[in-house]
Amino acid sequence: MSPIELAPNQVHHFYRGGEGIARFRGIPSTDDHAPEDWVGSTATMLGADGAGLSALPDGRLLRDAIADDPVAYLGPSHTAQYSTDPALLVKLLDPGERLPVHFHPDGTFARRHLALAHGKTEAWLIVETQGERPTVWLGFREDVDLGELTRWVDRQDSATMLDALNELPVAPGDCFFVPAGLPHAISEGVFLVELQEPSDLTVLLEWTGFDIDGRRDGHLGLGFDVALEGARRSAVRGDELAKRRQRTATVTESRQVARTLLPSAAIPFFRAERLRPAPAVSLEAAFAILVVVDGDGTLATEGSTVRC
Ligand SMILES: [Zn+2]
Repeated sequence: MSPIELAPNQVHHFYRGGEGIARFRGIPSTDDHAPEDWVGSTATMLGADGAGLSALPDGRLLRDAIADDPVAYLGPSHTAQYSTDPALLVKLLDPGERLPVHFHPDGTFARRHLALAHGKTEAWLIVETQGERPTVWLGFREDVDLGELTRWVDRQDSATMLDALNELPVAPGDCFFVPAGLPHAISEGVFLVELQEPSDLTVLLEWTGFDIDGRRDGHLGLGFDVALEGARRSAVRGDELAKRRQRTATVTESRQVARTLLPSAAIPFFRAERLRPAPAVSLEAAFAILVVVDGDGTLATEGSTVRC
């Protein structure tokens, strides 16, 4: 295999953003509702015909290229377990407005109610922040009963929902592991690399003011009485909250060549490393998405070399 340089792949969405992605990619910003760039993606946006799929430089879809030769792309042991599924979706995320409060169901919920293989556990690697108060909201501060949550959603009580969540100011280098089920939101101006299980399953708790009808499209077609069962309603406090976040030095501060960015609980889903080749670092032969956030260099395999 040779390294493959992937073109920008921003998708149109119901929330604003994407200017930062265009800047990061060095391309013009043409859509103010393109806050996500799906990188090396074999997953599609729910209900959007083929949107999200990554194309290779020769025009083929990465999904089809992997299906033709899964062992070359994914290796023999991954293929034995997951067939042609990379089991990973990486995104660049650049919200131009605060994301609505939402959560993603887990794999058990996805299999049971939707006959899908993956839920959406995710992780956020914060690259850059802008604005006065870059913030994420993660997990309820106190236990919330189902009736109460249902009323908040029904009344679209944004203020109460946001206030019920842990509010965490963030900085570049912060990394979060977000198990499926945890309600969350991200403020405008938080540019991050996101790792996810490859699905597009979102339950919206909030939609007022966004370009989407959540009462119709916010519950995965299951109705909120079923969809809300997938939410983690027990409190996330103290030790657990601390475990969800790992603060790492920014690229220029860290002297380590390779640094693990996520807690061990993430291992069944994905892993993330910050690489700082000084002057070189060897990578394991595996399916990997590399995002260059600073500097330049070369990426070499046995067969070829790519400058990045
Ligand atoms: Zn999310």
